[in-house]
Amino acid sequence: MALVVQKYGGSSVGDAAKIQRVADRIARRVRGGDQVVAVVSAMGDTTDELIDLARQISTRPSAREMDVLLHTGEIVSSTLMTMALHEQGIAAISLTGAQAGIHTDAVYGRARISGIDTERMRRELDAGRVIIVAGFQGLSEDFDVTTLGRGGSDTTAVALAAALKSDRCEIYTDVAGIFSADPRVCPAARPLRDIGYDEMLELATTGARVMHARAVEVGALYDVEILVASTFDETAPGTIIHRETTMEQANKVRGIAHQSQVAKVTVRAVPDRPGIAAHLFEPLAAAHISVDTIVQNASVEGLTDLTFTVASDDMAQAVDVVRKALPELGAEDVVTDGDLGTVSVVGTGMASAPGYAATMFRALFDGGINIELISTSDIRITCLVRKAQVADAVRVLHEAFALDRE
Ligand code: ASP
Ligand code: MG
Repeated sequence: MALVVQKYGGSSVGDAAKIQRVADRIARRVRGGDQVVAVVSAMGDTTDELIDLARQISTRPSAREMDVLLHTGEIVSSTLMTMALHEQGIAAISLTGAQAGIHTDAVYGRARISGIDTERMRRELDAGRVIIVAGFQGLSEDFDVTTLGRGGSDTTAVALAAALKSDRCEIYTDVAGIFSADPRVCPAARPLRDIGYDEMLELATTGARVMHARAVEVGALYDVEILVASTFDETAPGTIIHRETTMEQANKVRGIAHQSQVAKVTVRAVPDRPGIAAHLFEPLAAAHISVDTIVQNASVEGLTDLTFTVASDDMAQAVDVVRKALPELGAEDVVTDGDLGTVSVVGTGMASAPGYAATMFRALFDGGINIELISTSDIRITCLVRKAQVADAVRVLHEAFALDRE
C-alpha cells in the first residue's frame, strides 16, 4: 500500500462534473489499494473573482483580510470533492490548511511554510480515509489564516508529500506535462519526459506557469519526485521532475520560458559610492518585492544608473519604495517601463558550452527582436524584450535550438 499525494488544479475542479470525474480518478486509485491525500485548488477562476470583488470594495484591501477571503475558494472545492467521494462510497474527509497542520510565517499573501504537524492527517489515514486538503493556505503562529501566493497549491502538495514521507507527488493539471515552451505561444512545443529540479526551477521562475517555483524548491530539498500530468487525458505520460536527468539530456537546452508582465525600474543619477545598492534593495526586500535582474551602469562623473526588473504588478509598490529612498540615495529620479517581457533559454548543458548565448542572440537578431537587458545563471540566459515581441521570440528560439525534435 503506497501513500500518494496528489494535487488537482483549478481547471480540473472547475465545475461539478469535473469534480465528479476527479473523484472517480481518486476512487479508482483507492480501490487499487493506495492511500491518497489530494490537495485541491479553488474552482476555476474563483481566486481571481474573489480578488476582483475585494477591489470593488477597496483599492488597498488589508492583506490579512485578503488571505481570509482567498482561502475560502479552496475550502469550497475541498468539501465538494469530499462529498463526491462519499457518493462513490469512499471514506473521505476535507481538511483546511490549518486542520492539516500546515504552519506558516505571517507574511500575508506570500506566506512560507515553517512546518507541518502530520498528526491529524496520520490519524485520518490510519482510519482509512482519503484526505482532501484545501490548497495554498496555512496558519500563522497567531492563528491567522495565511495564503502561500498565487499558484501555491502545488507547494502545499509537495510539502505534504515531504512531511508524510511519500516519495512521489502527482500534480494534475489541464496540460499534459512540462513543455519545451508554452504551447499556446509556440505550437511546435512538445512535452518533456523528464527534467531536473534545477532546470525546472529556472523554467518556473522565468515563466513556465505550469508549476509553482517554490514547489520545485521543496521537491529538490526533500527529494520528492514530482509527476506533472493531465487530469483528464490519462493516456499522456506527463513529465517527471527529479534529481537527475539522463546523461544525454544533460547536454541540451531543455526549454524556452517567457514572461509577459515585466516592468523595468531605473533609478537615475545615483552617486557612485559604497552602500547605495544596499540602501536601495534593503527596503525593497523589506516590502517583500522580489527583484529580478539588476544592472548597474558604469559611472560617468561619479553618477550611475541602477536598473532592476520586477513583475508588472509590483511596479507601483516598487516605485513607492524607491521614491522614499531617493533623498538618502542622493539620486535624481526614478523612471519606469512597464511594457516588457522576458524570454529565457534553460538547460544544464549551458554551464559548460559557450555557444548557447551566441545562438540565442543571433536568433533574436535574425527575428528582428531587440534585446533590452541580458541576465544569466549557470543554466539559463534571459533577455528582456518588448512585451509585443515575446511570443515571436519564443518561437524563434524554440526553432533555433531544435526543440521540436526529440
Ligand atoms: N487558487 C489559488 C490561485 O489561483 C492557488 C492555486 O490555484 O494554487 O492562485
Ligand atoms: Mg488557481
